[in-house]
Amino acid sequence: MSELWFTEKQTEHFGITIRVNQTLHTEQTEFQKLDMVETEEWGNMLLLDGMVMTTVRDEFVYHEMVSHVPLFTHPHPEKILVVGGGDGGVIREVIKHPSVQKAVLVDIDGKVIEYSKKFLPEIAGKLDDPRVNVQVDDGFMHIANSENEYDVIIVDSTEPVGPAVNLFTKGFYAGIAKALKEDGIFVAQTDNPWFKADLIQNVFRDVKEIFPITHLYTANIPTYPSGLWTFTIGSKKYDPLKVDESRFTELETKYYTKELHFAAFVLPKFVKDIIGE
Ligand code: SAM
Repeated sequence: MSELWFTEKQTEHFGITIRVNQTLHTEQTEFQKLDMVETEEWGNMLLLDGMVMTTVRDEFVYHEMVSHVPLFTHPHPEKILVVGGGDGGVIREVIKHPSVQKAVLVDIDGKVIEYSKKFLPEIAGKLDDPRVNVQVDDGFMHIANSENEYDVIIVDSTEPVGPAVNLFTKGFYAGIAKALKEDGIFVAQTDNPWFKADLIQNVFRDVKEIFPITHLYTANIPTYPSGLWTFTIGSKKYDPLKVDESRFTELETKYYTKELHFAAFVLPKFVKDIIGE
């Protein structure tokens, strides 16, 4: 029997390769190519346009780090917006915070939500929680139509290709600042420093021009190209590096800890160089 291996090419000379047991679903949606596959090493895995979005085994790293860093930085996060994130992993983490009263998820592609519920129930299982409002819409338009509404906005988008191109623009970050309340915080996934240094540099510069407090932090995600992943956080008032330790309450996590909250902001020299710090 022939073996099936999937490779996400990062450059013409480097990629990440995973053996696939079987394809569970494949479809060209209105916005992107969606593949749901079963793997031995990482469990079920969602691919969009040939890029790994999430796997059952290592998803907790990304979803915890993109959620708990901003939510513990804000002293009382009540209303949260997730742009993208149709697999539901960020929502699952966000609603672990007892202060959260409403979490809105806006993903442009309803098929991602549908097939995540079917094949990634461990990740998507909280999308039907009563505090969660799921909307199938363009996150850029949702932001453009929102004002002074959210405590925390999390951008869990695909890379800046296809439907996500607008989500990496300065205009979008300005819209996020408008959509946030006066003490709001936002965070976006900003890819890896080995191959996407330009992206990180540009986003960091744009966010810094809009938000008085801007930082970059990292996490280790084995199934994302290079393994070292970055997140850019922009805040109007609260500094994630000055969170009062008494505010960290016990949550069930597998990667995030209060020590790691601060440690994640300690950057390797070559990453500091990318953002000019
Ligand atoms: N964690 C992943 C990563 O970093 O590779 C990304 C997760 S994936 C669920 C990202 C989602 O962003 C996809 O479901 C895609 O449909 C959604 N998306 C892309 N462009 C969008 C847009 N303009 N508005 C809303 N959602 C968008």
